[in-house]
Amino acid sequence: MMGSRETFKKPSHLQVDTLDDPEIRAAISTLRQIVASCMGPHGKIKIIQNATGGHITRTTTSSRLFGAISLSKPVLKLIVSSVQSHVEQYQDGGLMACLFCLLLVESSLDCDVNRSILADLYQVFYDIVDDYMNSDECACKYELDFSNLEAMMAFVQNMYDSKPFCGLYGYQLEEFSRLILQTFLQCIPDMASSKASFYTTRIYLLCVKHEDMNYSRNLNGLVIEYPELSSHVEKKLSIKRSLDSASCHRIKVALVNCSMSGDAESELNANYEVATGVNPDMFYLEKILSFCYQLVTLGTGLVICQKVMHPQVKEYFRKEGVLFTDRLGAMPVPYVQDVTGATPIGLLTEAPSDGMFGWIDHIEHVVIHDKSYLHLQEVDSCVITLVLATPDEDKLDELKTTTLGVLRNLERLIIQPEVLFGGGCWNTHVASYLRHHVAQNLSALASTHDCSESLVSTSAEIFARCMEKIAMVTSPDSMDHLVDVSSHHVWRVTKGEINDISTIRHSASLKCGCGLLNGTMVKDFQFLNEKLSGPKYKEFLVSKPNSEAIGCDIVSDSLSVVVNALRIAVNTASSIITVGQFIHDTN
Ligand SMILES: [Zn+2]
Repeated sequence: MMGSRETFKKPSHLQVDTLDDPEIRAAISTLRQIVASCMGPHGKIKIIQNATGGHITRTTTSSRLFGAISLSKPVLKLIVSSVQSHVEQYQDGGLMACLFCLLLVESSLDCDVNRSILADLYQVFYDIVDDYMNSDECACKYELDFSNLEAMMAFVQNMYDSKPFCGLYGYQLEEFSRLILQTFLQCIPDMASSKASFYTTRIYLLCVKHEDMNYSRNLNGLVIEYPELSSHVEKKLSIKRSLDSASCHRIKVALVNCSMSGDAESELNANYEVATGVNPDMFYLEKILSFCYQLVTLGTGLVICQKVMHPQVKEYFRKEGVLFTDRLGAMPVPYVQDVTGATPIGLLTEAPSDGMFGWIDHIEHVVIHDKSYLHLQEVDSCVITLVLATPDEDKLDELKTTTLGVLRNLERLIIQPEVLFGGGCWNTHVASYLRHHVAQNLSALASTHDCSESLVSTSAEIFARCMEKIAMVTSPDSMDHLVDVSSHHVWRVTKGEINDISTIRHSASLKCGCGLLNGTMVKDFQFLNEKLSGPKYKEFLVSKPNSEAIGCDIVSDSLSVVVNALRIAVNTASSIITVGQFIHDTN
């Protein structure tokens, strides 16, 4: 028997790649170009379709891009899976993490430094950069003031602005950003009056295909699909109310997360013995009906089932005047828990205890763009439904992905309000700091890592250059890049316009990438050009900008997102460049 099985197994066809194979280098370079060209407000939208001509995805977000492309090279799979782990946690900064990692890998292959030493030094440089960015001395960050709504608006607008496929511009971008910020602020619980812990972020995203994006809005409470009623006319509902523990007339809610279909086999998932003449499905259905009877006796007004309800169960609830909905799916369940306070019931063989029921004040039938919904409202709940409307599915996915990132960033800002000067400015600033710090500690670094001083400075230059390249890819193609030698921010000028740096007019209309500085505030510039050798920063005397000088229109990036994206990029690049061979079975 063993022999016959073996004959069916295809023989392995092992392919062994090394990083220096031209094919692998070309693949790394292609992915780098794709990722780089997605970044920032000038990012180019990608259209992805698999070889068999399936679904077309248009996007510039890393999560949708990596979800749509299939990679065959193990080295690229390794990079993308590291980036995806960052995106899962932060929902932002994926493109930057991926690009920095690919740049580090490519630059490492182009130089003749021993790769193990290089990998060690990259970790050291990351620690230097991380220490600086998290320190009080760091001059490229500031605290975003949550009470300054204009500054918060600018932060939200920047994030949508960097995702051009969302299709938000001008007035619409402003209106949409205001809606998101308002929704976010509305769902922050008042700790004195409400419960302290929640199962969700309290903002439920409801995606609606609609020609007009201005149809997007928020509704207090939770809006769930309700196919039981007409999708054309909103109906007035009469719902049974009961007395809650405070003797108020409210709606009692039961949330069931197991099937109420009566299909014993799929539901019990167990072996059982049946007496002759007994139909197990009928027996199980009777148990469910008896459970429903108990719900009715206990005064339940609304039954929400995550899975399927048997038609007889529905019939029974209808007869008893109990509102019900089934096939809710797993995703909205925690939101129902947060809005009602109900605990999911997973066993239908005994009566639920009092504590398992939830309560709400009001339920309405609403019709949104020809679909029927139940709108569950509870005064103290903090749960908000954010209706996102765009004309097509693809754009809706992009808007949803970006919105999740924006909301996650806002949430993080409450805990850590520090942001970096964006638009490429923190990149050039931190790169300058690294060069300076390494130059100051050259002999110590060389002796700790048992290598020459020139090797340490060459490696630091590679690391700093890769960081600066990120600032350059977010610009339109027609730009030259300068860095000022006092604050080390990045400045963009029309390509070829300036040949001699001393001829630059230090005017107020010339602005750095983040918008903090203008030409009158800085002394000298240097070209940030790959062809020139790195700028020689002899000193790094940057004082922190006065918080009053920081306007609301500054482009900023979340510090925690950037720090983690850099960490993932450096760890992944370090482990890749030390791998000798990538072996994969092509059968
Ligand atoms: Zn700047």
